[in-house]
Amino acid sequence: MASPLADAEVAREIGFAQCVHAIRNVLMTTPVGWLLVAWFAWGRAPHAHVLIWLGGFLCTWLVTLVLLQGILRAGPLLERHRPRLLAIAVLDGVSWGSVCWLLVGYSATLDPWLGAVLCGVAAVNAPVYITFYRAYATLMAAIWVTVELAAVLRPGHPVGTELILGMTIFCGLLTYHMRAIAQRVLDGIVLQLSNESLARQLSSALQLVQHEADTDALTGQPNRRALDELLKQQVGVARATGRSFSVLLLDIDHFKLVNDTHGHGAGDDTLRAFAQRVREHLRQGDTCARYGGEEFVVVLPGTTLGAALEVAERLRQGVADVSLISAPLVRTTVSIGAAQYLPGETVEQLLERADTAVYAAKRGGRNQVRVPEAATLA
Ligand code: GH3
Ligand code: MG
Ligand code: MG
Repeated sequence: MASPLADAEVAREIGFAQCVHAIRNVLMTTPVGWLLVAWFAWGRAPHAHVLIWLGGFLCTWLVTLVLLQGILRAGPLLERHRPRLLAIAVLDGVSWGSVCWLLVGYSATLDPWLGAVLCGVAAVNAPVYITFYRAYATLMAAIWVTVELAAVLRPGHPVGTELILGMTIFCGLLTYHMRAIAQRVLDGIVLQLSNESLARQLSSALQLVQHEADTDALTGQPNRRALDELLKQQVGVARATGRSFSVLLLDIDHFKLVNDTHGHGAGDDTLRAFAQRVREHLRQGDTCARYGGEEFVVVLPGTTLGAALEVAERLRQGVADVSLISAPLVRTTVSIGAAQYLPGETVEQLLERADTAVYAAKRGGRNQVRVPEAATLA
């Protein structure tokens, strides 16, 4: 599980990336804001000032675009790109703040309107920079400093004290409260990350439990429970589509003798090797499940009795030909009952028929494949 510190670090990275994307999106609509300001200021402030302001903004806009593209191309990584994003915030702040240098102080109608625009810019940028508070504070500082400098350095065209005061209070309050809101947003990302991580852990734990519930601990093959499910599913398919399947019931011959001769441990090894040997002789879609003790059931989807008998014979020979384990040397054989699913039959009836076939194989001398009495080859 990731530590809360690591989560906070990842959240900061995610927040940074979100901020970069938000700035890029808002940058597409920014020119509308300038045109509105230029339109309103045209005729109220000197034309040359409006044009200089627009030109300056266009330049910073283009530089911002280049900086952002650079970040996006290299992948938004907080540590690497922090200065670039702060530079973007400064450029943005200075560009907007410069209305006080170039456009304020010429018209009693224009001045409060521009004050409102600056407050609007501060407010609109709050959600844009919400996940990277430091850049927002930088932007606000840049607006404020530019406005203040205009007030101090333009004695010929004094910027209204009310505007300075209003901007100071508004920007100050907004910046102060934004800090807490930004932290809450980052906390939300951390929470979301830890929820996702918990959900992943839960899902893999569930998968593990499911796997263990369906697997035989000794042989690693599907167990009786999983076999029942699979057979029910195959019966469902057969009923719905008419696609039949076959089963092979395998019973190791004289297995008790293996235990009695070599001990229970060697018996276990033999069972594992037996299951492995059977698997090696099966296709991908076939299943070998441990039915219980030294009995296994092989499920052959879409297989007729004739084809199933070929598989069974291959398995029988595969077991009989080579010893299952070498230390101690255990060589054994297997008796196999093969049965094809008959329409209308239940799983229990099918397995019962396969079992009678195994019984017949045992009575016939073991190490052989048999079918139920009335079975005909398809
Ligand atoms: P047959 O040829 O008639 O099938 O004879 P068999 O000895 O194989 O059959 P029987 O039913 O008499 O004995 C089965 C033996 O399988 C008895 C039991 O102790 C052993 N067995 C069942 N499960 C396990 C297991 O998990 N590990 C080991 N080592 N032995 C097992
Ligand atoms: Mg048995
Ligand atoms: Mg047996």
